[in-house]
Amino acid sequence: MSLTETDVLIVGAGPAGLSAALFLSEYGVPNLLVERYRWLAHTPRAHITNQRAVEVLRDMGLEQEVVAKATPQELMGNQVFCTSLAGEELARMRTWGTHPTRRADYELASPSSICDLPQTLLEPILLEAAAARGTEVRFNTEYLSLEQDVDGVTATVRHRPSDTVSQIRAKYLLGADGSRSKVADDIGLPLEGQMGIAGSMNILIRADLTHLVEHRPSVLYWILQPGSTIGGVGMGVVRMVRPWNEWLLIWGYDIDEPPPQVDEEEARRIAHRLIGDDSIDVQVEDIALWTNNRAYMTRYSSGRVFCMGDACHRHPPNNGLGANTSIQDSYNLAWKLAHVLRGQAGPSLLDTYNDERAPVGRQVVERANKSIAEFGAILEALGLTDTTDAEQMRTNMAALKDDNPQGAAQREQLRRAMALKNYEFNAHGVEFNQRYTSAAIVPDGTEEPTYERDPELYYHPTTWPGSRLPHCWVEHRGRKVSTIDLAGKGRFTLFTGIGGESWAQAAATVSACTSVSVAAFVIGPGHDVLDLYDDWAALSEVSERGCVLVRPDLHVAWRSRDLAADPAATLARVLGAILGGAAVEDAGNVLVGTVASA
Ligand SMILES: Cc1cc2nc3c(=O)[nH]c(=O)nc-3n(C[C@H](O)[C@H](O)[C@H](O)COP(=O)(O)OP(=O)(O)OC[C@H]3O[C@@H](n4cnc5c(N)ncnc54)[C@H](O)[C@@H]3O)c2cc1C
Repeated sequence: MSLTETDVLIVGAGPAGLSAALFLSEYGVPNLLVERYRWLAHTPRAHITNQRAVEVLRDMGLEQEVVAKATPQELMGNQVFCTSLAGEELARMRTWGTHPTRRADYELASPSSICDLPQTLLEPILLEAAAARGTEVRFNTEYLSLEQDVDGVTATVRHRPSDTVSQIRAKYLLGADGSRSKVADDIGLPLEGQMGIAGSMNILIRADLTHLVEHRPSVLYWILQPGSTIGGVGMGVVRMVRPWNEWLLIWGYDIDEPPPQVDEEEARRIAHRLIGDDSIDVQVEDIALWTNNRAYMTRYSSGRVFCMGDACHRHPPNNGLGANTSIQDSYNLAWKLAHVLRGQAGPSLLDTYNDERAPVGRQVVERANKSIAEFGAILEALGLTDTTDAEQMRTNMAALKDDNPQGAAQREQLRRAMALKNYEFNAHGVEFNQRYTSAAIVPDGTEEPTYERDPELYYHPTTWPGSRLPHCWVEHRGRKVSTIDLAGKGRFTLFTGIGGESWAQAAATVSACTSVSVAAFVIGPGHDVLDLYDDWAALSEVSERGCVLVRPDLHVAWRSRDLAADPAATLARVLGAILGGAAVEDAGNVLVGTVASA
């Protein structure tokens, strides 16, 4: 049997696996990716690409390509509830940060915009960049099994067309093989929750619906048609794939019944029913079934095998978090693997992946399922839950128009129910407020800042260790850049101000004496970086003589309110604590020792 060797073997070419391959290649780590199928996703499942994902792709130099291919935020902003696209509109709300009062929150949070990029367009961008930077990709290659020992992992894979079995030996294996992950099963990761709680059908169509939507541009149109499905409450989604001629129709089915057999004719009938106009030309491109889950792993790794993406968190598409979270999993793990493989960190650094990402996965699963449940309030307000009789439901819905106290109460109830949907469609805090606690974060002794606004709806920028580096615009050598642009790139970054120059010298000393790269920026007049809007002064939460140390994944690793007595030794000790032992038992001591003897 043939044997190939690599540093990291990645199983699965979805958003998790492809982004892991990209990050590892960018960081110079040899990696090989195997994918069971001949090509990438053929249906556009994920699409909402949040600011945090775009800024990670910005770090990889891919933002321009993403923006060029995506539908912009301006066209994502109307969530419409109606009886059909051509029918009566019941409610509408501004979403994805497009309400004028929310736009500022989104603009202040990140240099990048939220956008809508179908998975079918995102994946080729990731693949091309990963392959160009060094990833070896093998399509039509199925992972079968693995065995691990103290030095590495041996995986058995099968080339499907030739039915040839071979082995790949890697130092680490990443299971990015989706919600039915065999890798996660093989290493016995503990799953909590329930799989297959509801059934859904995707119907991909081409149809020019411009005249029905261009006055209320959106990515999601919710259609309420009593009596059109099991249980009497029919709710379908018409999702924009490309404006305004490619659409994904999502339609629920009863998971306790046999899966529906939908042929092209039935799919076209469903499409016409949701559109509300049979005369529109509809081309059916694809029909697929999938299930909603409420399940997450409480641990993401075992030994040298790490899982990520849907393999670890399995939930409905509500809030649009799946692919976004998968990319963040990879971004969290990739720099750690790179540092360990380069001998700059001890293997214990990899344990922090579990500590940091498992709570996020759980939060995402719970949030997405809660968002589904919250549709109940809308159905209730429309009088769709207290009867199974379709005619009665239609009468109840019509009562919304009545000029009487009941009609007024129903309208008020609907307004309150719609407001709840902010937790699905404007949940900026869910996307940004991750505050990691692990051995790769060094506390500074301060209390965790309390959220001043609802933590699910609003992002709270802070440099409290573990939080994401706050974004603000600064000037760097004559160019307007984000603080996010100065950090990242696979290395640590230190920000300080006037009077903190010795922190910058310390960063240079530590970088020179060890192989751990720490870029440093002094922000202030006379230096390379100018805080011309005084935004960094407001956001940094340290004095000018203090410093903020940022990890390669743009999370704050540590901060010091003021100048330390010995900045080089302090920084070396902090890095040693984060990197956990390096090639010897205690990287902190090694770094301090190296710096001291330099
Ligand atoms: C209708 C719908 C809408 C969605 N909308 C959004 C959204 O707006 N935003 C968002 O962020 N997310 C969204 N999602 C979720 C998103 O699609 C998933 O979270 C994402 O695809 C997970 O990425 P992944 O790489 O973990 O898994 P997958 O995309 O499932 O990729 C896993 C890959 O592994 C391969 N594989 C599996 N087993 C093997 C094996 N044994 N050997 C080799 N290869 C294997 C598979 O073929 C597949 O290519 C949506 C999902 C659906 C269904």
